[in-house]
Amino acid sequence: MNQTIRNIIIFTISMIIIGAILATASLDTEKRTDIATLANDVQQGKITSLQIRGTTVEATYENGDKIVAEKEPGDSLATIFNNYGVDSQTMRSIPTEIKEPGGFTYWASLIIPNMLPILLLLGIMWFFFRQVQGQNSKAMSFGQFASHEIPKDAKNKVTFKDVAGVKEAKHELMEIVEFLKHPEKFASFGAKIPKGALLMGSPGTGKTLLARAIAGEANVPFFHMSGSEFVEMFVGVGASRVRDLFTRAKKNAPCIVFIDEIDAVGRQRGSGLGGSHDEREQTLNQILVEMDGFEPNAGVIVIAATNRPDVLDPALLRPGRFDRRIVLDPPDIDDREAILKIHAKQKPLSKGTSLRKLAERTPGFSGADLMNLMNEAAILAVRRGKTSIGEDELLESIEKVMLGPERRSRVMSEEERKITAYHELGHALVAHLLPHADPVQKVSIISRGRAAGYTIKTPTSDRYMRRREEYTEDLAVMLGGYAAEQIIFGDITTGASSDMSNATQLARNMVTQWGMSSKLGPRVYGDREDMIFLGRNIHENRDYSERRAETIDDEIDGLISSGLARAKQIITDNKSIMDKVAEKLLETETMEREAFLEAVGIPPANPNNMFKSDSK
Ligand code: ADP
Ligand code: MG
Ligand code: ZN
Repeated sequence: MNQTIRNIIIFTISMIIIGAILATASLDTEKRTDIATLANDVQQGKITSLQIRGTTVEATYENGDKIVAEKEPGDSLATIFNNYGVDSQTMRSIPTEIKEPGGFTYWASLIIPNMLPILLLLGIMWFFFRQVQGQNSKAMSFGQFASHEIPKDAKNKVTFKDVAGVKEAKHELMEIVEFLKHPEKFASFGAKIPKGALLMGSPGTGKTLLARAIAGEANVPFFHMSGSEFVEMFVGVGASRVRDLFTRAKKNAPCIVFIDEIDAVGRQRGSGLGGSHDEREQTLNQILVEMDGFEPNAGVIVIAATNRPDVLDPALLRPGRFDRRIVLDPPDIDDREAILKIHAKQKPLSKGTSLRKLAERTPGFSGADLMNLMNEAAILAVRRGKTSIGEDELLESIEKVMLGPERRSRVMSEEERKITAYHELGHALVAHLLPHADPVQKVSIISRGRAAGYTIKTPTSDRYMRRREEYTEDLAVMLGGYAAEQIIFGDITTGASSDMSNATQLARNMVTQWGMSSKLGPRVYGDREDMIFLGRNIHENRDYSERRAETIDDEIDGLISSGLARAKQIITDNKSIMDKVAEKLLETETMEREAFLEAVGIPPANPNNMFKSDSK
């Protein structure tokens, strides 16, 4: 860039200098005069001879002096002199020589001043052209290098051993590994090897990891690219990258082409939202063309991953493309233990640390969360100067991963602390005293992330299906904080706002999605269409009448108010217990399950909750 600017400046300056030199070159050192004076001198007979070169007239005087004058270009010298009153007799008596106007200087002096602006213009155009071209060629070369390759004998290769859980997915993928290892075996039986597999699962379930593991297992090169990398500033770059990716893959067959986050390019076409729309469409088309273009047994298997299979273009899912669809489930308790074990491998754990207990405490965590948990615990242990990672660090990291880092520095006034304590105990006590609620693991009034305090309750087992009664109790627990604030202080703080929105969302789902309202019956209300705008669903087709809309509102209100009533009942009935526990909590700031049970003094209403916590 700097270089170019300097070139431009040098170019301009030299053009100006050349122009100036040539312009002055024609005025030699000769004396000049005007044509009228010359005419006068001719008339007086002072001049012995004349030379005409183009418009320049050179007169030689009797004393040998030479004087130059310029005449008008069109007319002949005779006409001009005539006009100045020189008679033709005198004119004829002076020998006049007409020379070819020519010579380099003459032409240059004529052309350069006219050419100068044009040359300058050309120079500037050239400069901008080079700029643009430079960028373009960069974009093109990105296209060539943007796919990342993991060669087949790479170090720190990932194999199926490094992926815990997802048994069904691994089982299905074993087949693909077989295809890649022994393509000829399948070919000799006339079997067509599938071209593509689509990995589907929520974020952090290990899709990317698993794709790499396939390549590692089969010992083939792995070309990977993320959907968002296809979409660039220049239209057409995405398509050229796809072409390039497949060209490289075909050269290196057998191999795996992995397209991560394919929903970035593979969204349903033609919905018309978003600026880079055309580019995405072209890129997607190119992927389809490439996938159709190679022979089934070419040894290239395309694996794509997405956490939004619902938004994918149907064309991607047609036969001959991503035939195999593989779902990665979130890890259950055994999987979580196995994942924790994998990530604990190179970390010194204290003797007697139970990863099982950690797995029990982390329902809903994804593989990525668990990896993060192990890492946070290791960091914590180092910072505390310990020689190994203890259970304390592990348990504390659960909260950190779940809720963000503790913010002990946040200063709360005495009143705020008190309100927070009662609020959290509202949740905890209601959960404790309802027959289906999850056991309370911990209550704390230390702020974490954006919350002032928190109550952790975790289910005793992984649940896939839940009953209406459990949800109505959940509503009561969610509103327990609100209820406590209202009963104890007669007022509400902003601390309950996220509880309220969670409760509203739950009640809405119960009524409109899960058929849990007797008035509305087993029907889904609202056809949720996925239109992605700023990553949110903004669109819900209302497929019900105005009258139903009112009923829905009434039902949601009903669920929320009965939940609140239930919470209030429990809190008023147990106000003395609450005061007692609150005093303790204000003192210690956090209460683990055992301390909480002891302070409350009555057993949990859910009998499962009692011995579960005491096992281990
Ligand atoms: P995704 O692509 O599904 O969002 P990743 O594959 O990127 O998830 O997972 C992120 C990290 O989480 C992985 O690098 C790995 O360390 C860890 N992880 C996720 N799932 C598993 C699993 N099943 N077994 C072991 N580690 C896992
Ligand atoms: Mg991923
Ligand atoms: Zn709350």
